Amino acid sequence: MSTPVAFITGITGQDGSYLTELLLQKGYVVHGLVRRASMFNRSRIDHLRADATVGAERLVLHYGDLNDLTSVRRLLRKILPTEIYHLAGQSHVGLSFEIPEVTCGENGMAVLGLLEIIRDLGHPVRFYHAASSEIFGRPAQAPQDEQTPFNPVNPYGAAKAFATQLCRIYRDSYGVYACSGIAYNHESPRRGENFVTRKISRAAARIKRGEQRELALGNLDARRDWGYAPEYAEAMWRVLQRDQPDDFIVATGETHSIEDFLSAAFGSVELDWRKHVTFESRFVRPAEAWNLSGNPAKAKKLLGWEPATRLPRLAELMVRADLASLSD
Ligand code: NAP
Ligand code: GDP
Repeated sequence: MSTPVAFITGITGQDGSYLTELLLQKGYVVHGLVRRASMFNRSRIDHLRADATVGAERLVLHYGDLNDLTSVRRLLRKILPTEIYHLAGQSHVGLSFEIPEVTCGENGMAVLGLLEIIRDLGHPVRFYHAASSEIFGRPAQAPQDEQTPFNPVNPYGAAKAFATQLCRIYRDSYGVYACSGIAYNHESPRRGENFVTRKISRAAARIKRGEQRELALGNLDARRDWGYAPEYAEAMWRVLQRDQPDDFIVATGETHSIEDFLSAAFGSVELDWRKHVTFESRFVRPAEAWNLSGNPAKAKKLLGWEPATRLPRLAELMVRADLASLSD
């Protein structure tokens, strides 16, 4: 059998880094798209680039940008990957209210552009789209499944809903092998520092070490279905191993409040979060999604995928990692 070749957009992000580890372990050649920044933005994959067992020919990085799809088209024609994992884009829901055009361009129109490239490629390729629970926004039913109607309440969710629907349209109309993994929040020590879980884990570690006293947060009543990111990378891979393309909910099915996460994170280092958390209105969003809880039954049945790590273990492992990085 020939060596599978993956192309990952968003390889420098949380999920891209875990997926790259997984695919390299499975013997893939991995090509990743990286965008130019004024400082290197590859810290999440530096350990793989430094790993002598991987080698430059098995992990290849290419400059590119979702705002320059002509260069992405050129790359895809040259690489001819067997699988494309499209993870890149503006991933912060709160910020999507502040930069809606960038958010919709990267999370919506860029997916359409990639589908068009694939349609013309003349080479069989499987396409994974990183969809989000935010497509459901304020759903009438909980938990949500693959049939739940879209009802996004922010620009991020609207763009992801547009892209998810387009994947379905290209699958049904042109036979493109396009799948959406409708993932609920997934966290890890590599989560961006302005997401609430990582903000909390870093603060718990820093307060424990005496380097910070307070943590300013917004709405503590919000609830999320939080899983562990490396397990979600495994689900992405499994989605593309099926003969027929399809969409899958990737979730734990359990929800917790921000207060639950605070309690688990601060509790793991014997701190009382109530003594440190303050309220700051700028972290409150113009509109909140609610009722977001995913039913992963289809993923379990057809992919054999099940989440293993839940709160409070997730919060604890994130705080431990942040404590360790402070000791470095
Ligand atoms: P992340 O850590 O924010 O990573 C985003 C990646 O996209 C980074 O590699 C970033 O590059 C890249 N990127 C952003 N704009 C780009 C552009 N214009 N051109 C090229 N690359 C660009 O996000 P993540 O948590 O890994 O999430 C991966 C995907 O899953 C995202 O599409 C996200 O919306 C979606 N998703 C995530 C979750 C979750 O809970 N994590 C849940 C549902 C869906 P830089 O490193 O240069 O910034
Ligand atoms: P999201 O679900 O992708 O928006 O992930 P976030 O981690 O950014 O936010 C999860 C929830 O935490 C949302 O309901 C936010 O309103 C809430 N939240 C409360 N305080 C904060 C904060 O300081 N930062 C962030 N990012 N979210 C907060």
